[in-house]
Amino acid sequence: MLDFLIKGGLLITGEGIWKADVGITGEKVSLIEGEIEAEKSKRVIDARGKYVLPGIIDPHTHPVYEDGVLETARAAAYGGTTFLLFYAYIKPGQPVLDTIKWFRDEGLANSVLDFGLHAGFFDAQNQVPLIPEIFKLGVSSGKIFMAYAKLKWMTDDYWLMAAADIISQEGGLLMVHAENGLANDYLEDKLLLKEGRPQQEVFLQTNPDILEAEAVNRACRIAQVARCPVYIVHNSAGKSIPVIRRIKEEGHRVYAETCPQYLCLNDEVYRKFGALAKVGPPIRTEFDRLALWEGVQNGTIDTIGSDHAAKAKKLEDDFFKAPYGSPQCETMLSLIFDEGVNTGRISLPRMVKLMCENPAKIFGLYPRKGTIKVGSDADLVVFDPSMKHTLKNEEQHTRVGYTLYHGREVLGKPIFSMQRGRILLEDGELKSKPGSSQFFPTRAGQVDPSDLI
Ligand SMILES: [Zn+2]
Repeated sequence: MLDFLIKGGLLITGEGIWKADVGITGEKVSLIEGEIEAEKSKRVIDARGKYVLPGIIDPHTHPVYEDGVLETARAAAYGGTTFLLFYAYIKPGQPVLDTIKWFRDEGLANSVLDFGLHAGFFDAQNQVPLIPEIFKLGVSSGKIFMAYAKLKWMTDDYWLMAAADIISQEGGLLMVHAENGLANDYLEDKLLLKEGRPQQEVFLQTNPDILEAEAVNRACRIAQVARCPVYIVHNSAGKSIPVIRRIKEEGHRVYAETCPQYLCLNDEVYRKFGALAKVGPPIRTEFDRLALWEGVQNGTIDTIGSDHAAKAKKLEDDFFKAPYGSPQCETMLSLIFDEGVNTGRISLPRMVKLMCENPAKIFGLYPRKGTIKVGSDADLVVFDPSMKHTLKNEEQHTRVGYTLYHGREVLGKPIFSMQRGRILLEDGELKSKPGSSQFFPTRAGQVDPSDLI
């Protein structure tokens, strides 16, 4: 006897589209057949006219602002996500290993979703030597900031090289925020402080696309020398695409991520949303947006992550004083489906690769996560492609109460989801309670990028 039967839907994985029913026993997918009789299951979920997708894996979330672990996971669950990778930011002076353990325990106590962790280094000199110890805690990826020198978040090339070297020896994945921190700071000092220009007007000039592409190249070259796999987070610049492509063609293991805000918005957003739209790297021009879509289509971009960082801001706040970050995890699937699949830019299986299968492969969770196969965890989403809805500030589950997509009409919405055979989302309600999540140790950076296309 099956516990659940998802019946009548179109099953979408990275490999294709099938008309198939999905049977679930306990925490696992136990049967996939063209037609399974309803009598064989205790409960039947009617998926006629709907897509059945693997649960979304969001590889990029920051549960340390207005939305903590609890709120981030809850908002993500409403959006069809079933697995999160949280950045465990280790600020200077914080005990490295205890901080990682804190994030793990916080996730186990308060996340409604299964999760893994990336380390985030802010004081490389004192933190990078502990990477082997961090790996023993099940965290095999760590992010270095090449940006934000004035904020003292930046790591210089000496310690970037050291991190690549140590991570390579441990068999993990180096992640980078690729922008040129010192050069950008000079431009900011010149244009903002000396010339008194408002930051909102010169935001793209103080964070130029060329210097993002430059940092992408530098990070990849340093990683290449160390033979260390590297993951470029939140690509925002069209000019980075040929750079990443070339290094992939050389056979180096580089993975690239972009985010819904770079695929669905352009610099008109500043006029409409002011300080709310301040994110780093910046939302750029229509040229960049279209170039990123090309990268998504041709396999240069491997993953889409939300970079969910819910900051308390108001539209009219001073742009310069406003913090970087925006809430993104809840709207991500509907937006990428609408902007990618409904426009014909990408196929449904390609969307599933970008948002489920590829992150699962890159972080060593596949095939338990990221696909729907017999033996996989029963993490799945029933998605209604014909449900038209308007994204609204007041309907978001983030604590900050705004979205950069307010007023935008999208076609397609997740209406049901499940994690390891338990119902997460049903009838617009989150059914799961915190405390049922599992922590997944990762084994990052093992897959060949050519297997992700
Ligand atoms: Zn981020």
